[in-house]
Amino acid sequence: MSKKFASQGDLAEKVVTFERLTDNAYCYAAEGDPTSGVVIGDDAVMVIDTRATPVAAQDLIQRIRTVTDKPIKYAVLTHYHAVRVLGASAYGAEHIVASEATLELIRERGAQDYKSEVERFPRLFQAVESVPGLTWPTLTFKDRMTLWLGKLEVQIMHLGRGHSKGDTVVWLPKGRVLFSGDLVENGATPYTGDAYLRDWPATLDRMLALKPKYLVPGRGLACHTPKQITAAVEGTQEFIRMLVREAGSGVKKRRSLKQVFDAAYPAMNKKFGHWAIFDHCMPFDISRAFDEMSGIEDPRIWTAKRDKEMWHALQSG
Ligand SMILES: [Zn+2]
Repeated sequence: MSKKFASQGDLAEKVVTFERLTDNAYCYAAEGDPTSGVVIGDDAVMVIDTRATPVAAQDLIQRIRTVTDKPIKYAVLTHYHAVRVLGASAYGAEHIVASEATLELIRERGAQDYKSEVERFPRLFQAVESVPGLTWPTLTFKDRMTLWLGKLEVQIMHLGRGHSKGDTVVWLPKGRVLFSGDLVENGATPYTGDAYLRDWPATLDRMLALKPKYLVPGRGLACHTPKQITAAVEGTQEFIRMLVREAGSGVKKRRSLKQVFDAAYPAMNKKFGHWAIFDHCMPFDISRAFDEMSGIEDPRIWTAKRDKEMWHALQSG
């Protein structure tokens, strides 16, 4: 029996946690679903990753309103994936902030990604008709930018490629809070379908050099201690390195994508199968790892059609 495509079988509502980390930082998590961050400055609020639709964003907005009535002035996109960016219009933010590389990806493949992700995540895209179209950044930066929310310094940085070409982290020097986006997952499987796998671990090392006290990951709950942060980052790194090893040795032996998948899946399932969205991610992850190890530099664009063809090819006996 083949598995249900991507997250089409994951229809149970998740428990939401809205957690205060410091006076200025909150984490909005929903088990293994995409996590959002909130920064509260002196005169304004920043949301980091906006949820999948404007309707889904309402729950986050309501929770922000239980702790502050300051205007939500900034929405930061940690990367271009639809499931995190298409709720942006709900906040009425003055600025949508993204890296230049993220803007390039939205231009190049945002429309295909939108269609593909809606079919991958039917629960998260409930009320998809409320999405007014793609989310376009209004403020972009190359490597770094500092914004001031009154006296609160907010650093927004692209530390290198990893989960995508344009990954962005948000860093609050006061309180040492880091918002990593999908560069780090906590108890969830890294999605690597659009990744630069060989760059990713080093990007994480640069991130750790900031010495965060709190880390808000791309999925899962916030980390509060150095031990928790190291565990989440090293877990992500181990997953990436194993994926590279599995795909690399398969490509060297001239195995097909299907053969590499059949060998890597059980091996990785043993170590990481308990993480959220493991079965969803693995076919996409192995596909990209296989491409990267075969010398394809930039991730190929996923379309709703390519998604299904790949899934069928890998999951059928
Ligand atoms: Zn992502």
